Amino acid sequence: MKKKVIIIGGGVAGLSAGIYSAMNGFDTEILEMHSVAGGQCTAWDRKKYRFDYCLHWLVGTSKGAFHDIWKETNVINSETIIVNHEIHSKIMDQDGNEFYIYANIDRWEKYLLEFAPEDEAPIRRMCTDMRKSVLLEPFSLPPELRSLTDYIRIMPQMLPVANVVRKFGRLTCKEYFDKLNFKSEKIKFFLYSMWGDRNFSALAFIFMLGWFHQKNAGYIIGGSYPLAQRMVEKFESLGGKLSYKKRVSKIIVENDVAQGVILTDGTRIGADYVISAADGYSTIYQMLEGKYVSKEFDFAYKNWELFTPIVQVSFGINKAIKAEEPITVKLTRELMIGRTLLASGYNIMNYSHDPTMAPEGKTTIVLRYESPWKLWKNLEGEEYKAEKLQIEKDATALMEKEFPGISAFIEVVDVATPKTDVKYTGVKDGAYEGFMPSKENMMKSLKMKLPRLQNFYMAGQWLSGGGGLPPSAQTGKWAIQLICKKEKQKFVYGRQV
Ligand SMILES: Cc1cc2nc3c(=O)[nH]c(=O)nc-3n(C[C@H](O)[C@H](O)[C@H](O)COP(=O)(O)OP(=O)(O)OC[C@H]3O[C@@H](n4cnc5c(N)ncnc54)[C@H](O)[C@@H]3O)c2cc1C
Repeated sequence: MKKKVIIIGGGVAGLSAGIYSAMNGFDTEILEMHSVAGGQCTAWDRKKYRFDYCLHWLVGTSKGAFHDIWKETNVINSETIIVNHEIHSKIMDQDGNEFYIYANIDRWEKYLLEFAPEDEAPIRRMCTDMRKSVLLEPFSLPPELRSLTDYIRIMPQMLPVANVVRKFGRLTCKEYFDKLNFKSEKIKFFLYSMWGDRNFSALAFIFMLGWFHQKNAGYIIGGSYPLAQRMVEKFESLGGKLSYKKRVSKIIVENDVAQGVILTDGTRIGADYVISAADGYSTIYQMLEGKYVSKEFDFAYKNWELFTPIVQVSFGINKAIKAEEPITVKLTRELMIGRTLLASGYNIMNYSHDPTMAPEGKTTIVLRYESPWKLWKNLEGEEYKAEKLQIEKDATALMEKEFPGISAFIEVVDVATPKTDVKYTGVKDGAYEGFMPSKENMMKSLKMKLPRLQNFYMAGQWLSGGGGLPPSAQTGKWAIQLICKKEKQKFVYGRQV
């Protein structure tokens, strides 16, 4: 008899866990509450336009431990087309002044030196710190399975990175910029406006371009939906069962051993192992009724800041509009969209670089802004509908300002709110990427096992600050590596079962 592994949640973490579980010969079932898999990694179609939610860049598109996972899970195969943008993003202030972030650190340094020649010393220091992050290598094994040799082996390569971590690991971006002591008001304005106004980790900023610089954080043509579907295909081809519209309400535990799950319709499904790749908070405090909370989880949920949710207004435009850069950040002051006073501005994303997002001669453009959960939490019924209409109106007016005359070409407008995300994925407070990477959590991760509870593992974006597809998929793989270890069987990662 094969041992049964139940995975709660068919997002990227759940799909990854499912693929490795099936590869390793377990009878595997993923229970997904929505009618499609992918979780946050999703997109939706409206009148032949595709509106993508997640994928902008995927760390691991060219090498390293994340790349191995993407190949093993069919996210990257011989047919996937990867685009490495030259420009990471463009930032604009209210008066139309522009600031570019280039994906290549040398290119960005050159640009910054022209932008603010008086700041040569801090610019060079910052870019040197960033270049060191190129050496950062993710581990392929979970902490529990690493040997001393694993650490010793990477030590020489990681020494410069370790120095950056030691120096800046406990700083926010603002503190890091203060330390660099820029003189130019222009450069200060853009850097502080983008990263300096919150408890955002300096390391997250320093490491950001390292992946791009190596062309190891590309965009995959087709975006989020086909990415998740390729994982579904792989999982099903290995004999895994993916059950939709199955919402887990409780994890069955007897004598501190996970034994299966109970669905919201009362169905009980037994299992030898349970992995939760669903929202972390609801797993621990609802499905397990708060009976197995570690001190670390308790601390994290009480103290770590969550990502501010977003509103996404997607436009289908009956006109070809090309953009040089995939993301333009518009910094604003005192601008309201609906009932949200924009804290820092909004993003415009033109998907003209991906021909699958709109029919030929047409364009998909997305406008996105942060909107605190407290504005949405109690918004229901007619009030909610009215807010969506107001957002549509305000966002369309902004588009008209940005691209005069565009209103006449808008064929579709779609408003997705933080409530939409919560409804379809159960994510806590619309925090689409989990915990904000801060100076408190940047180098920490939460354990995949809970105290005293046997045969249960957590996977997914809620185990470390910053979320993202790579750590989500990686913890899915790690959960199966831990199960294989417990079952005393060799972990395999390429075999068709
Ligand atoms: C706007 C946006 C942009 C992003 N950009 C990027 C990017 O460019 N690059 C990147 O790497 N990452 C990006 N991310 C982050 C990335 O999408 C997430 O970190 C990742 O997809 C999380 O995967 P997960 O499987 O851990 O969680 P989720 O995707 O949240 O999956 C959880 C799954 O569990 C299901 N579920 C929940 N509760 C239950 C239950 N009780 N029973 C059954 N099923 C349940 C949900 O329906 C869902 O499918 C972005 C995210 C968003 C929203």
